[in-house]
Amino acid sequence: MPQMLYRPTFMQVNLQAIQSNIQQMQQMLPVNTELIAVVKANAYGHGDIEVAKAALQVGVTILAVATPEEAIRLREAGVSADILVIGASPASFVPVASEQKITLTAYSLEWLQSINQFDQPLKIHIKIDSGMGRIGFVDEDELKHALAFIKTKEWLEVTGVFTHFATADEALNKHYEEQVENFQCMLSLFHEKPRIVHTSNSAAALQYPEQNLDAIRFGISMYGVAPSPWLSDYLPFPLEKALSLHTEVVHVKKVKKGTSIGYGAVYTAEEDEWIATLPIGYADGLLRKLHKQTVLVKGKRVPIVGKICMDQCMIRLEEPVPIGEKVVLIGKQEAEEITVEEWAKTLETIPYEICCMFSNRIPRLYS
Ligand code: PLP
Repeated sequence: MPQMLYRPTFMQVNLQAIQSNIQQMQQMLPVNTELIAVVKANAYGHGDIEVAKAALQVGVTILAVATPEEAIRLREAGVSADILVIGASPASFVPVASEQKITLTAYSLEWLQSINQFDQPLKIHIKIDSGMGRIGFVDEDELKHALAFIKTKEWLEVTGVFTHFATADEALNKHYEEQVENFQCMLSLFHEKPRIVHTSNSAAALQYPEQNLDAIRFGISMYGVAPSPWLSDYLPFPLEKALSLHTEVVHVKKVKKGTSIGYGAVYTAEEDEWIATLPIGYADGLLRKLHKQTVLVKGKRVPIVGKICMDQCMIRLEEPVPIGEKVVLIGKQEAEEITVEEWAKTLETIPYEICCMFSNRIPRLYS
């Protein structure tokens, strides 16, 4: 049933675009290479349960999340596919992970020792820190001890080993090459190769097909966004954008020259102007620093004026529009388009952060 909206502000999520990005990526992969859909952080703001289900429909076999809570949310929504928690999980989560068949990341000997008190079946992927400096085994001796420790615990099953690249979204570079080498070196310490060896995020998967091994972890580009501005010029297939942000004009008025608009009265009309109010503000993710951003009305860019409020903002129009006029903040309207990448540039950040910053107050509508 379509969701009832009283406030006409919403994010449209195109699940077909997500499925199409997955399918295009799958076509580049060897037949036996699996695609792990990264649905952490509410599927980069797109809606974890909906994206997970859409991804599973097109042949994704494993879902990756960052936290125990994210994994539990998927299980509670009836998702029975393999789930890998790629972040650090506390030992207290192990009984739940065991019961709900959630795979955890083993990232240090200390962590493995901390879960020694449990002896319930648990699947783990071993994380190697080949040069990201975050979590994972760096030291060969520590890894050897960990593998020896695991061998004595018949309830522990190593189903995977992985690493994460720090610079795969740039042109081929020394750091990336060193990470590949370090990972291979650590991999050679395993007496038996785990079923799934995986290293690539979106950037590596798109750029270095030889590195795609048994699985890739596909995140940002599953949502139709290039991992970096540099890589956007070298994509092997066009990505379909999944997210757009919409609202409607709720109030329009003609103000006299000299009228000020919004908090601090920092904007003053230079002549008689048409000002419209939009029901979206910084509590939704339209950050105050976006005050120089334009929005689309009738297929044309118009400026936000004055300071963005918590729940509303004002725009300047060249001519009046009716109440209910459609406004696009991110997405296409006629021939114009405002992208997540454009917002990222305005905010001097990366598109990942833009996708993740929309609050729960924004309903996600799916098509
Ligand atoms: N793998 C790990 C360990 C990650 O932390 C992330 C995202 O941060 C990904 C894969 C997905 O990366 P991307 O969104 O660049 O595809």
